[in-house]
Amino acid sequence: MKHALSVTREQDFAAWYQAVVSEADMAEESGVRGCMVIRPWGYGIWEQMQRQLDAEIKRTGHENCYFPLFIPLSYFEKEAEHVDGFAKEMAVVTHHRLIQKDGRLVPDPDAKLEEPLVVRPTSETVIGAAFSRWVQSWRDLPVLINQWANVVRWEMRTRMFLRTTEFLWQEGHTAHATEAEAREETLRMLEVYRRFAEDIVAMPVVAGEKPENERFPGAVSTYSIEAMMQDGKALQAGTSHFLGTTFSAAQNIRFQNSEGAQELAQTTSWGVSTRMIGGLIMTHGDDDGLCVPPRLAPWQVVIVPMLRDTAEDDALLAYCAEIAREIEAQDAFREPVRVLLDRKAAKATNKRWGWVKKGAPVIVEVGGRDMAGGNVSVIRRDRLYNEAGKLDSAVMARGDFVAGLSAQLADIQSSLYRTARERLDANIVRDILDADALSAFFEASPRPGWAEVNWSKPTGAELDAVVEWLKARKLTLRNVPVDALPASGTCIFTGNVAVERVLVGRSY
Ligand code: AMP
Repeated sequence: MKHALSVTREQDFAAWYQAVVSEADMAEESGVRGCMVIRPWGYGIWEQMQRQLDAEIKRTGHENCYFPLFIPLSYFEKEAEHVDGFAKEMAVVTHHRLIQKDGRLVPDPDAKLEEPLVVRPTSETVIGAAFSRWVQSWRDLPVLINQWANVVRWEMRTRMFLRTTEFLWQEGHTAHATEAEAREETLRMLEVYRRFAEDIVAMPVVAGEKPENERFPGAVSTYSIEAMMQDGKALQAGTSHFLGTTFSAAQNIRFQNSEGAQELAQTTSWGVSTRMIGGLIMTHGDDDGLCVPPRLAPWQVVIVPMLRDTAEDDALLAYCAEIAREIEAQDAFREPVRVLLDRKAAKATNKRWGWVKKGAPVIVEVGGRDMAGGNVSVIRRDRLYNEAGKLDSAVMARGDFVAGLSAQLADIQSSLYRTARERLDANIVRDILDADALSAFFEASPRPGWAEVNWSKPTGAELDAVVEWLKARKLTLRNVPVDALPASGTCIFTGNVAVERVLVGRSY
């Protein structure tokens, strides 16, 4: 069967991913390494993600605000572990003026900043400084805020959406009076992320705690949601950190408790980025391009009139416009259906394949014969081909199509989730009992999935040795699933008594 993309997932997964990003008009290179231009279809998906995650963030009691892009270098110097983690990837502004020299623009030595400014890689330090002003008494707590922003981390190996130098995200930051409350918040947001990934992105994830070596710099505990891509690799799709008093000690976030004593606040932070779009592509894409879950599709239904450059075109467009109005009056997921009538002058088959590659969930083609019969021809993006391998286009009475649309969109959403869920469940092995068998498992298949194994939670040098051993096999520890089976027997790496179960896999 011939497909719309020039490379299939089976042939070369990495090249296939790049092909989807470009053929679905998601993003393109910008000329600055690791920085991308997000095109309207990609940005439209991000806007849908933002809107729905933002509603959930607000529903759980947080307010949005905005902090500056530039953070004074000295803010980072206050927290050694944090700066250690981020120093290698910081972009720094040192001058505020350029001058002409030998025909070139160069930074003006007389315009050197007294204190360099870091382009934020994350905002704990600057938000912590604000918290220290806002928090005086236990009555000021909790502080629950979020910001939508861009951040910069000078990444060495970049890939569109998955790991970019500049990326868009939301970062939540909270301060609490007690450790118990802050830990509860950390897990609440982990659960918000899990639900967002599963219900909205239709991407099943495993929520769990990261081992010590994968912790956010400065965090006491880091939790993540991990998604399995179609090549079996793991994608860390969101993180939630319990920061204890690390940042409140560094930034002096103190409050008077109800007994009148001074205490340090307990803080958290959590973030989800444009990486989620990369996860969506590698979860729902196929050899014909992207397939966007209806809840995230900028257009859930696209109507393509089969225009012929004849006098009949006007009547056909009027017929399509009427159907578009009927569709707009329908609800899906408790919102009006988002429908586009594609009036572009391009050839109808090119338009059809353009929308297939972009992954519009439902594509409605309307030609003269459809109009004459009061019909439409409907393509469901997640079931493009029939059993005979032919493009599956169903002729339906227009009234029936419109009446069934809301249910059809819901069915596409849940069927995408189900397919991805089955893939995740089928590709985690849980019966590996020693390190040699683990090695063999990952060597045996080019797309092996993950292994959940017994784990003694080593620390220090013992943990370093495990991480090195895994690294030599291109493996990483993903997380300790919150709903893993109970540990039993011995750790497959250390031979010590197992206390938890940890997920091991290749990763992005
Ligand atoms: P962190 O602040 O390091 O916990 O990052 C929060 C989330 O942002 C991570 O879980 C990733 O999903 C995402 N993320 C981290 N680095 C990048 C990057 N370079 N490009 C895109 N997303 C990223």
